[in-house]
Amino acid sequence: AKMEGGKRFRFYAREMNARALERMDLEHELRQAIERGELELHYQPQVDLRGGQVIGAEALVRWPHPAHGLMMPGAFIPLAEESGLIVELGEWVLRRACLQNRAWQDAGLPPISVAVNLSARQFAACDLVSLTDGILRETGLNPNLLELELTESAAMLDTTAFIKATKRLKDLCVSLSLDDFGTGFSSLSYLRRFDIDRLKIDRSFVRDIVHDPDSAAIVTTIVALAHNLNLAALAEGVETEAQLRFLRSCDCDEIQGYYFSRPLTVADFERLLASARRL
Ligand code: C2E
Ligand code: CA
Ligand code: CA
Ligand code: CA
Repeated sequence: AKMEGGKRFRFYAREMNARALERMDLEHELRQAIERGELELHYQPQVDLRGGQVIGAEALVRWPHPAHGLMMPGAFIPLAEESGLIVELGEWVLRRACLQNRAWQDAGLPPISVAVNLSARQFAACDLVSLTDGILRETGLNPNLLELELTESAAMLDTTAFIKATKRLKDLCVSLSLDDFGTGFSSLSYLRRFDIDRLKIDRSFVRDIVHDPDSAAIVTTIVALAHNLNLAALAEGVETEAQLRFLRSCDCDEIQGYYFSRPLTVADFERLLASARRL
């Protein structure tokens, strides 16, 4: 039966209220989880295609939630972005990842670089450069072993400020990569103005390279573009042997994806590094 106007409104209002309250709860819980250091980082290996060895790892945040289980970033990063909590979350991730890599170096594991995802809002809200500098000093991590993953959306927010920040980050000797390359709206002219080291080819192109000639052409072209600009090309989301073969054939430098390994807990990643497993 059709609800009468007023009733229908009250129904929707109640629904919306419930959802808003749920959101506020989650936001409150996330703030607490950050403050109490309850988030976790998992690490996904990045592998050199020529030598086959692990050369780096991307730090990916997880939230072990008492009621919802292990929450993936898709379930809370958008909330963190909207609420501004991403700034604190991002600072925690950066510090944690640097501390962790320093500990791996101290333990005598093979040197690798750890890549940290940065949100566009971190560029706007804080002095990312002095934050990074401070964390590097505090942890004593070799800046060459830190990579920051930027997205085109960060560049588009305030291009001038972004270019300045990336220059100063390069002065600190950290590496910079452009994440999800090919999916943004930015123009290629950005590539001339940013001093970056690596393009990460988005998973959506890699997924179809074997069956879709257009995706294959795009990936081949991005790899060539990267090399012509003196950048490394890393393919994300590599899942199959056939994709790997294609990426070798177009001279891609590095891969990351389930084919080699899913993101791993600290303990599992340490075991992998110590075992020196190769592609
Ligand atoms: P991203 O930066 O593109 O990270 C790669 C995502 O692809 C990860 O998802 C990873 O688990 C997944 N992946 C890797 N290899 C494969 C594969 O072979 N197949 C498939 N289907 N997926 C693969 P995850 O961990 O769920 O993270 C999702 C996104 O959340 C990330 O996308 C990133 O944008 C964001 N994120 C994660 N950690 C952080 C963080 O610390 N800070 C910020 N600002 N964002 C983060
Ligand atoms: Ca990333
Ligand atoms: Ca990506
Ligand atoms: Ca360069």
